[in-house]
Amino acid sequence: GFNCGIVGLPNVGKSTLFNALTKSGIGAENFPFCTIEPNAGVVAMPDPRLNKLAEIVKPEKVVATTMEFVDIAGLVEGASKGEGLGNQFLANIRQTDAIAHVVRCFEDDNVIHVANKIDPASDIEIINTELALADLETVEKAIKRVQRVAKSGDKEAKAQLEIFETLLPVLNEGKPVRSMNLDKEKMALIRELCLLTVKPTMYIANVSEDGFESNPHLDTVNKIAESENAVVVPICNKIEAEISELEDDEKSMFLDEMGMDEPGLDRVIRGGYRLLDLQTYFTAGVKEVRAWTVRVGATAPQAAGVIHTDFERGFIRAEVVSYDDFVKYNGEAGAKDAGKWRLEGKEYIVQDGDVIHFRFNV
Ligand code: GDP
Repeated sequence: GFNCGIVGLPNVGKSTLFNALTKSGIGAENFPFCTIEPNAGVVAMPDPRLNKLAEIVKPEKVVATTMEFVDIAGLVEGASKGEGLGNQFLANIRQTDAIAHVVRCFEDDNVIHVANKIDPASDIEIINTELALADLETVEKAIKRVQRVAKSGDKEAKAQLEIFETLLPVLNEGKPVRSMNLDKEKMALIRELCLLTVKPTMYIANVSEDGFESNPHLDTVNKIAESENAVVVPICNKIEAEISELEDDEKSMFLDEMGMDEPGLDRVIRGGYRLLDLQTYFTAGVKEVRAWTVRVGATAPQAAGVIHTDFERGFIRAEVVSYDDFVKYNGEAGAKDAGKWRLEGKEYIVQDGDVIHFRFNV
């Protein structure tokens, strides 16, 4: 599975968001450092297509695909030097696939801000600087190591050395490597460094109830994100916390009242998914209708491998109907009659929404 680490300064609303996401009920205290151990929660991916498929197939069971969120301990200035819970923070964040960086854009005199004022640009800079400093240390070490190998004439080491050196000035400025727009080849050369500032990042702008429009704090976050290839999801964590407490029927009433189509959390979950370049395919049997996650660009055997490694190894063919055709022709039989059922081979690139039945040898 894929995971997304929730980071941010203390008291910006990380735990509130995490709790709403997982309803796991860990404490959101008005106290810096309250989240000490990383807390992981698995969240179902909201996807209305799954229900639509279930209406047609009427299976015994419906299973959504998931995304894991990890609430990572609060970061303070100086973390890269081991201040606060710094080292632990950096170690935890290294293990995530993507970063959700919560930024406080709400005013509330009752909630202490670590720097005593709401200033998203400065908050973002504090965190990004710590991440950049940590990466700087990693890159400097790597340069020393690669230099020795490059001296002996190793081509790959030479190429690595060259690219590693271009990272230094960027990181020295406290900027993320993400903002450099490195091409695929260069990304491959730096992959082994597991840099923190190349991880796909979304800023979660935690706004007040009426803070979605004409909010200068939100504008600031948008501008910063644009300059460094990150995305922004504005959300009011406080409302999300309330919504997550409601039963399903109350939920839709509440959303209607608030003029919302869906909980903002759904945008966060989907944001994480898009950030990681993930997509969904379905299996639709009478026992189970189920959504599965694969990377965009995955081949049919790779997609089969998500279900079971044996499926990938023994892959023969994939029977495929697109989601739209499956719905339009009311299931596989109808799609087949309409000529919309395809038999695809090893090279097939799976498309978002494909309804697939794998044929394989065991
Ligand atoms: P963390 O330290 O970043 O995990 O922050 P918490 O989630 O523990 O939140 C800190 C405090 O801010 C708590 O008292 C929350 O109730 C409050 N809080 C979180 N989100 C919001 C919000 O959107 N609006 C307001 N007014 N308060 C919030």
